[in-house]
Amino acid sequence: MTAAFPVPPELAGHPFFQYRNNVLYAEDVPLDHLAEKLGTPLYVYSRAALKAAWETYRSAIGQRPVQVCYGMKANSNLAVLKEFARLGAGFDIVSGGELKRALAVGADPARIVFSGVGKQAWEMRAALAAGVMGFNVESEAELQRLSDVAQDMGLRARVSLRVNPDVDAQTHPYISTGLKENKFGIPIGAALDAYRSARLLPGLEITGLDCHIGSQLTDISPYFDALEKLLDLVDDLDGIGIRLSHLDLGGGLGIRYRDEVQPSPKALLDHVFQRLQARGQGHLQLVLEPGRSLVGNAGVLLTTVQYLKHGEARNFAIVDAAMNDLLRPALYDAWHGLRPLRPRAGDTLEYDVVGPVCESADWLARQRALALEQGDVLALESAGAYGMTMAGNYNTRPRAAEVMVDGGHYHVVRQRETLDDLLRGESTLP
Ligand SMILES: *Cc1c(COP(=O)(O)O)cnc(C)c1O
Repeated sequence: MTAAFPVPPELAGHPFFQYRNNVLYAEDVPLDHLAEKLGTPLYVYSRAALKAAWETYRSAIGQRPVQVCYGMKANSNLAVLKEFARLGAGFDIVSGGELKRALAVGADPARIVFSGVGKQAWEMRAALAAGVMGFNVESEAELQRLSDVAQDMGLRARVSLRVNPDVDAQTHPYISTGLKENKFGIPIGAALDAYRSARLLPGLEITGLDCHIGSQLTDISPYFDALEKLLDLVDDLDGIGIRLSHLDLGGGLGIRYRDEVQPSPKALLDHVFQRLQARGQGHLQLVLEPGRSLVGNAGVLLTTVQYLKHGEARNFAIVDAAMNDLLRPALYDAWHGLRPLRPRAGDTLEYDVVGPVCESADWLARQRALALEQGDVLALESAGAYGMTMAGNYNTRPRAAEVMVDGGHYHVVRQRETLDDLLRGESTLP
């Protein structure tokens, strides 16, 4: 099990992807075998890693009333969803497309929450028809539309208001959502009035209160700041006779990409339940919507070195994965660990690892000391979240295949896109 190649300590957080005899494995499957059989770029997920991540939540919850709704935009491959459905997860969806995916794996609609700032009427209808647990509503205009749609169907939609508590999640600006500058949620100061409006709408039934303050939080104190503000609002709602049954704290727990200390669900839950008790709100059920922390470290992206380009200022390793496969570096300046599938002995050079796309933002890793040769295969780590789900076809590049490893076996859980797939649906003028 131990590495013949010295694994840098900062990479020690990914136990399901380990070297054996100088070859990187996913569980019991050598990754070079997958690269050879299936080609690259290739996303590889570990089933055991998904289960282990789920277990950190399950054990942290114990007997407490918590519903975990997997924030599926992090990774919505059907095999991943099915795994979480089997484990008893609910789902947090943000579109009609994600609803379709959840239902396709047999998810229990009573455990699906529908979030998102721009729900369309057709999406509301589909979710109501499916019988979802509820909607996290982000504006007064959305309350009105949802009520109309539900009334039209002779139903009442269960709603929580997503409030924006104006707390700084201290994460990247693009993944911070709980500041008053962000487009998300109803400003907490306006929330009481919004609940008053919601109470008057005939197509709605008020059930809860929701927030989601950001993503990749490595410090949990922003949750605590948000929680106190939410509990003040719960008190105010009690005061006007609106009794809630649940409190949804969203997702956002961070993972270790490099040297971050991954916050534990247990530390979060212990504090939250202690505060609920202390403030006399112990009857509230808690909902969590973790995405990244359930899948991020359960996946790698394999890519093959096409060319090495040694220059005066920089050395480039040009690989066959690009920003269309893994957007996070270009979008958030994100850092992903990078490991050769078969490390070479010998001198290293400092490389920028870049893709073939015609954009200077098309880079995957920068200034990494590597001993490389053309044809080497590399694994970009922590690619299980916001990897494939953000992939696109820029430069008419087919999207990668996805594989799930299970012990010594593997399953192709999404075929590589073909060039014909890419042209389908297009036509020229006569
Ligand atoms: C993205 C998102 C999540 C999941 O966030 P993670 O940071 O991946 O845990 C949960 N809830 C909502 C509303 C989201 O938009």
